[in-house]
Amino acid sequence: MSTEDILKNIRGFIKGKGYFLTGPRYDVAKILVETPTHMDADEVHQLLGKARVDASTVYRVLNLFCKLRITRKIVIDNGPAQFELSERFLRHHHHLICKHCGKVVNFDEYDFLESDLSKLERLFRRKYHFIVADHKIEFEGICAKCEEPRRKG
Ligand SMILES: [Zn+2]
Ligand SMILES: [Zn+2]
Ligand SMILES: [Zn+2]
Repeated sequence: MSTEDILKNIRGFIKGKGYFLTGPRYDVAKILVETPTHMDADEVHQLLGKARVDASTVYRVLNLFCKLRITRKIVIDNGPAQFELSERFLRHHHHLICKHCGKVVNFDEYDFLESDLSKLERLFRRKYHFIVADHKIEFEGICAKCEEPRRKG
């Protein structure tokens, strides 16, 4: 899907919730669509051009987007929360999180994982009468960039 198509979807979705995708909301949404990575609020602010929108507006918009589930918030131990589009507007995927620098990497190429998880979800339904709506998987570890100096030193 093109940036325009995704923005159109977001516009329709937010309208259904009683909001409009105007001004800073549009700008923040566009940054999120155009930047296929996880960003903290400061990085979103930086990409917007600091002169145009102030930091508190960026926070406010991101909070609204999280509340409406337009974005997903990834909370990490040693750094600011990171944001990305929710899976309504982005393909389903999981995360590798570096415990050292807080970098979040997507992974999504394992079909066996999804098929085993759906078996598990059916089992939860039978055994606990629990209906799974979503799942999130995060692996924590050390990324290549943080591992490098350790190997050298
Ligand atoms: Zn790292
Ligand atoms: Zn992600
Ligand atoms: Zn999955």
